[in-house]
Amino acid sequence: MLLKRLRDTMARAESVEVTLGEVVRLVANEMVAEVCSIYLLRAGEVLELFATQGLNPSAVHSTRLRVGEGLVGDIAAHGRPLALDDAQHHPQFAYRPETGEEIYHSLAGVPILRAGRVLGVLVVQNRTRRQYDEEEVETLQTIAMVLAELVSASHVVSPNEVQQVDGIGLLPLRVDGVQLTPGVAIGRAVLHEPRIVIQRVVAENVEQELVRFQEALHGVREDVDRMLEAHDMQSGEQREILETFRMFVDDRGWAERVREAIDSGLTAEAGVQRAFDDVRTRLGQSTDPYIRERLSDLQDLSNRLLLRLTGRVATDPASLPEDMIVIARDMGPAELLDYDRNRLRGLVLEEGSALSHVAIVARALDIPVVGRAPNVLARVEAGDPIVVDGDNAQVLVRPAEDILQTVHLALDARAERRRKYAALRDLPSTTRDQARVSLNMNAGLLIDMQHLDDTGADGVGLYRTEIPFMVRSEFPDVDAQAWLYGRVLDLADGRPVTFRTLDVGGDKVLPYIDSFGDENPAMGWRAIRIGLDRPAMLRRQLRAMIMAANGRALSIMFPMIAEVTELLRARHLLELELDRAKRRGQPVPERVRVGVMFEVPALAWQLDSLLPHIDFISVGTNDLMQFLYAADRGNSRLAGRYDSLSPALLRLLHFVVDKVRPAGVDVSVCGEMAGRPVEALALLAIGVRSLSMSPGSIGPVKAMIRSLDLNEAVGFMSSALAQPDRPLRETLRLFAADHAIEI
Ligand code: PEP
Ligand code: MG
Repeated sequence: MLLKRLRDTMARAESVEVTLGEVVRLVANEMVAEVCSIYLLRAGEVLELFATQGLNPSAVHSTRLRVGEGLVGDIAAHGRPLALDDAQHHPQFAYRPETGEEIYHSLAGVPILRAGRVLGVLVVQNRTRRQYDEEEVETLQTIAMVLAELVSASHVVSPNEVQQVDGIGLLPLRVDGVQLTPGVAIGRAVLHEPRIVIQRVVAENVEQELVRFQEALHGVREDVDRMLEAHDMQSGEQREILETFRMFVDDRGWAERVREAIDSGLTAEAGVQRAFDDVRTRLGQSTDPYIRERLSDLQDLSNRLLLRLTGRVATDPASLPEDMIVIARDMGPAELLDYDRNRLRGLVLEEGSALSHVAIVARALDIPVVGRAPNVLARVEAGDPIVVDGDNAQVLVRPAEDILQTVHLALDARAERRRKYAALRDLPSTTRDQARVSLNMNAGLLIDMQHLDDTGADGVGLYRTEIPFMVRSEFPDVDAQAWLYGRVLDLADGRPVTFRTLDVGGDKVLPYIDSFGDENPAMGWRAIRIGLDRPAMLRRQLRAMIMAANGRALSIMFPMIAEVTELLRARHLLELELDRAKRRGQPVPERVRVGVMFEVPALAWQLDSLLPHIDFISVGTNDLMQFLYAADRGNSRLAGRYDSLSPALLRLLHFVVDKVRPAGVDVSVCGEMAGRPVEALALLAIGVRSLSMSPGSIGPVKAMIRSLDLNEAVGFMSSALAQPDRPLRETLRLFAADHAIEI
């Protein structure tokens, strides 16, 4: 009824000011509130009182609050509702004498949202200290939605006034973000999903709207099924991601929320928008990566439904440029796959993380992605020339011609280098004085396995198993895991693969195991610590690996081992699984190699008791560096502060290698350091003979190895390490230059 009355009021075609005045009267009446006010956002992030019932009328257009100031400002700043029975004692309360609001104690307010942006705030107040219930807040939200349409259609605040103009124009601009996938691309901007505008909010006929919603949902389901049928979606993580999305489309709980919204008198499209806004208000502030992922899936689904319901066709793909750089706030994996892959060059997101589904799919498509690029959507116009530099985590918008030229040259040089490294593919990885170095690659997705052939790597030195666990909504069962590891071994085709057991926890959250919100996640309940506390989970993974090997050799390593007993307990679980397989007459691996990741410095002083129990040690310098220097590896302010070529790290590694190798235990390095030629040179010079790195690094490191006289390097290093403490980077560079070593 309220919605109908609102619509009638709006249809009366009075001036907006008059209409807003009637709306506040109507709402105050309906909600039994003494006050109802509407604040709208104006230039300079200021909220101005535009209409009120109950407050002093002279305050209209004179009471102004900054976004973030007072309770109204707080609602706008966070884009979420607030309901307080004692507003005046809230720390955020800002008293404005001209309003005469001192007599009102309770307050409920909701943001007026349109297309994800805050346009203003709708507030009701009462004298008594009353608690507004959830239903009342929801009613306010529905009213705010109707208001949003009125406000934006009437241009009561000129859209130009609140548009973010920062950077729009012709000036070049550099936007710094984070690398989600590496690589560099040049192209022209395509703004993803220019917001879908809902024209009809109030339903004429609820039954009809429910049917429209049902049909739209059905249509989306068919679209996703079609994507799943595409020939390159037949296996692997991309498929799992899409299947998870498909499950989402079928989620009853969410569809039920939309139906409830429609039942309350909204059109199907407004119902979808309402349900999404609700979820975003509740979960939007969450930093939990799993929840963020669900939100982008939900956004993806809502957009698909809105496209269908508003009858707006998605942009004609043929009208998009040949070299697309897609710019989006955030995106679900299916949305990325909607773009023509032959034209897609790169992706820029305002949000996103390296493990988000869209980043994983982008990696499979081999396009660079920069994420967390602040406000980029507002700063780029469709068609702008863009450089996405994933390697340096930056986006160049409208770069000057000379910069474009430089990037083109760099891309050409890169292609040239690729050709050169490709030519090294079948040549042995041997130094000039005939020392053989084993070069392996790191992998974590099935799609990565193709690089074994194109790089000529000896094998996979580190297979990170966590990604498939993170893209699902429940723990993958043994069969699913066994299938995946089996495929990895098939694709390796006899070349060794070292599987690392699950390294999750801390910030890599699995939705289906409790985490305790560690304050210090990198040092928290993660990796083998979870595995040993949840032995059934670790055993299932080990069982799957044994099944996958199906008689072939198996190599397993345990992450984050800090004490020998942890390795012994993990080994024991492995023995139990091997026995189980034997008892059941299943094939057991012809050989099982067991190793540990050396990431926790404490392990260096336990080698004597550790070595008899292992076949190899793989040094994870990414974590080792962060624990050795107490420097968070993800903190951009610390990036580059401590040099991995410091004597501290190299002496520690030297000590470890000298102890491990004579015991007949293999030692390799699989952190990022191994893939950088100068660092790799240092590692070889202290005795490492096996490296594992991202596929793109194999060529450059092999070129370095083939130009190196290892004996000379060893001599040089032992005297360099005896020098007073200072990073060896420069010294090593000079050494390489003097000896024509390709670094
Ligand atoms: C490391 O810590 O160096 C490592 C290789 O493991 P991850 O990067 O997966 O933590
Ligand atoms: Mg690690």
